[in-house]
Amino acid sequence: MSDRLAKGGCLCGAVTVEATVGDSVGACHCDICRKWSGGPMLALDGGVGVRVDGELNVVVYPTTEWAQRGFCSKCGTHLFIRVNQTGRYILPAGLFDIDEGLRFDHQIFIDKMPNYYSFANETRDLTGAEVFADFAAGAKT
Ligand SMILES: [Zn+2]
Ligand SMILES: [Zn+2]
Repeated sequence: MSDRLAKGGCLCGAVTVEATVGDSVGACHCDICRKWSGGPMLALDGGVGVRVDGELNVVVYPTTEWAQRGFCSKCGTHLFIRVNQTGRYILPAGLFDIDEGLRFDHQIFIDKMPNYYSFANETRDLTGAEVFADFAAGAKT
C-alpha cells in the first residue's frame, strides 16, 4: 500500500487533476457506471483532497442522490465521481498516466455484472447491498 501523488487530465488538456491515490484499483459494474463509461468503470480512490484545475470546463451531473459525476465539457473525458455526503472522489484509473504499481483487487456491484465479460484477476467482490452496508457503516464513524 503506497500512496502516490498522481497527476492526470482529460483528452483535450483543458482539465487537469491531482490526487493522492493508493495502489488499489476497483471495478464497478453498476448500471450507471456501465452507461457512463460504456463498460465497467475502473477507478482509484482519491479521498477528499483532490485538486481540479480548469474547473470552468468541468460539468458536474448529479447521477443519484448520493453522488455527482464530473466530465470535461470540451472533450467529454470522465473526471470523477464525487460522493455528496463525504466529499470523497473516485477517479477513473485511466485518467492518470500510471502503468506500474497498481493492483486491480476489488469489484463492486458484482451482482449487476452482465454475462458478456468477466475479469480473470483475483479480487474481493461485493454486491451492491454489501457496498451500501459498508458505506452506511463507514458514514457513522
Ligand atoms: Zn477535455
Ligand atoms: Zn458504479
